[in-house]
Amino acid sequence: MSDLLVTNIGELVTNDPAHGGLLGIIEGAALAVVDGSIAWFGSEGELPPGHLDLPIHDAGGASVVPGFVDPHTHIVFAGDRSEEFSRRLAGESYEEILAAGGGILSTVEATRAASGNDLFDDAAARASRMLAAGTTTVEVKSGYGLEVDDEAKQLAVAARVDAELPIDVVPTFLGAHVVPAEYRDRRDEYIDLVCTWMLEACAPLATFADVFCDEAAFTVDEARRILEASAERGLALRLHADQLGRIAPPTSLPTSERPAPTISTTPPPMTSPGCATPARLRCCSPVCPSRCGFLTRMAGRSGTGESRWPSPQTAIPGPHGSRRCPL
Ligand SMILES: [Zn+2]
Repeated sequence: MSDLLVTNIGELVTNDPAHGGLLGIIEGAALAVVDGSIAWFGSEGELPPGHLDLPIHDAGGASVVPGFVDPHTHIVFAGDRSEEFSRRLAGESYEEILAAGGGILSTVEATRAASGNDLFDDAAARASRMLAAGTTTVEVKSGYGLEVDDEAKQLAVAARVDAELPIDVVPTFLGAHVVPAEYRDRRDEYIDLVCTWMLEACAPLATFADVFCDEAAFTVDEARRILEASAERGLALRLHADQLGRIAPPTSLPTSERPAPTISTTPPPMTSPGCATPARLRCCSPVCPSRCGFLTRMAGRSGTGESRWPSPQTAIPGPHGSRRCPL
């Protein structure tokens, strides 16, 4: 609806401290929307008479808050890895699951096999649940195709979600999510593919390019090469970094002449130097705390009396002994 007057708002969150507190809450508020934009908001008692002709929605004393923006999602995928939770609880490591064809590789296999329509149905259902929870803008990554047509297929699905649902989708090309199994011994060839044919097909469908720069994925030098090729195609830059190990202080990534990349990381194990780097580069750095709860291997097992959740210290076994698995 392009024109609307919302009345009887119990608490209107403006995020403007000028209205009091960090959230800038106005109690007993009203909000007018004209031509799809907020034309006025404030205390309902001060509502300008000119807005009284707008279609009215009575909020019934509820709170009205700005839409949430989710800057890091992978909602276009097929397959189901829920059984990996029980395997990890039983003591299997992510590396063991990956070696058996699980982890990201199982999602890649299922996503490649899925039709665009099936991917859309699942992604639309996920986006609808996010909308119901208040998210109005969502970044959506590819990264489960890992070949030209299937990466483009994921981004086309993201565009369709944007077009058919009342949610804004910001598409990100993540062809460098992990080296696919068929390129395991030819990783330079895969990076060549990403930097040429894959970017040619996917750059027109994306706003950002992302690289998973970590010990189980791409090195700093490889990430730099992919990000530079992406920037030359006009894409803004993002980075998965410092989620599994500590190899990726992104101090040397291409930031000097372009906007700094958005760096997605995870509170543990991101190290103090790792935290300082995005601050120094003035990067936007969303954190992914739920990844620890859902995907980290448990430090102890149920019934042993040990904590089921690793502390930041115990969860960092070293560069080649990671207990984590990538999103
Ligand atoms: Zn991710």
